[in-house]
Amino acid sequence: MSEPTTAREHIELVERYSAHNYHPLPVVISSGEGVWVTDVEGRRYLDMLAAYSALNFGHQHPDLVKAARDQLERLTLTSRAFHNDQIGPFLRDLCELAGKDRALPMNTGAEAVETAIKAARKWGYRVKGVPDGRAKIVVASGNFHGRTTTIISFSDDPISRADFGPYTPGFVTMPYGDADALAEALADPEVVAYLVEPIQGEAGVVVPPEGYLRRVRELCTEHQVLFIADEIQSGLGRAGATFACDLEGVVPDVYVLGKALGGGIVPISAVVADDEVLGLFRPGEHGSTFGGNPLACAIGRKVIELLRTGEYQRRSAELGAWLIEQLRAADVPTVEQVRGRGLWVGIVLRPEAGAARAACERLLEVGILAKDTHETTIRLAPPLVITREELEWALERIVPVLRSAAA
Ligand code: PLP
Repeated sequence: MSEPTTAREHIELVERYSAHNYHPLPVVISSGEGVWVTDVEGRRYLDMLAAYSALNFGHQHPDLVKAARDQLERLTLTSRAFHNDQIGPFLRDLCELAGKDRALPMNTGAEAVETAIKAARKWGYRVKGVPDGRAKIVVASGNFHGRTTTIISFSDDPISRADFGPYTPGFVTMPYGDADALAEALADPEVVAYLVEPIQGEAGVVVPPEGYLRRVRELCTEHQVLFIADEIQSGLGRAGATFACDLEGVVPDVYVLGKALGGGIVPISAVVADDEVLGLFRPGEHGSTFGGNPLACAIGRKVIELLRTGEYQRRSAELGAWLIEQLRAADVPTVEQVRGRGLWVGIVLRPEAGAARAACERLLEVGILAKDTHETTIRLAPPLVITREELEWALERIVPVLRSAAA
């Protein structure tokens, strides 16, 4: 059997052997450095998706690769049956970054969300005094928190949900950004938590109204409900601050982190909260074979070290504001809205512009990798190491593609 060499041959193999649970753009990437990737036929592209923010520090960041390589040659996995010499320092650094007492490491984002749900329910029974089996968690319309059976149970996206029931009970959906509706829902004494993305990523970089997160904080405190911020995509520099909650000066009870925590090298996620919540777990009640493995922890520590400099948050805030301003100033008739925070932008197309997918295919042709979401929105989320010059290069290509959508 011959090995594939061309893009077409690679894509045919995936079409033939993969479950069709994705619809990737037709590009086969074989290497990457910084914000640039190269495909199997030698074409270069500017990566403006950054693996949904998992690559906040770009491809092959030298410090992260070094941390990975050093650890790879020493120790990669112990399981939590034993201690390893990376997990303690990693958890300490993560707690310091988030200003919390404890953290619980897992692997994927969805696992961390599941962990937060379990922690909130336990807290509801042990601390709030909710009768056993009655705990409710409020979630937001348009949410995306992952793909497990419990998480899709409270998705309102029919594609995520259909055919995957029966659904897990115990979740109540309220309109995203509507603090008055939330106030009513939280008054129910069986509610233990409000799980929310401070900015909704998969929904198309939806920023809630100014002051919403502060109201969420107040309401959660007033009703003794945990404020769980899913910062898996919005956190760790993406929105122009360490956490998107920082943009409103708000501290949630629980942070859920993932994606960029693994430096784009390995999956590592975590729930970070105070003793009152994470101090409730007892041995055997939760865990994961790979959670807290030394390779991921060594990389995670380096990620935190990079974030401590503040440089990435600053770049994201400054360059992101500039990018949004430029896109708005271009005043493309078929663009309904340009929104976002930091280097995290949703370009919403008017219906006459055609599907966002088609626009992303045209962006691919001019050397830009971006991804559509919800048919009408193009999402831009380049690695935070991108330069102003590279963004200018991108704008010179993006704006004409947006204009051509009108043709
Ligand atoms: N939560 C949010 C806000 C996300 O954006 C995602 C992934 O896009 C997840 C959770 C799920 O993360 P993972 O795909 O690592 O399970």
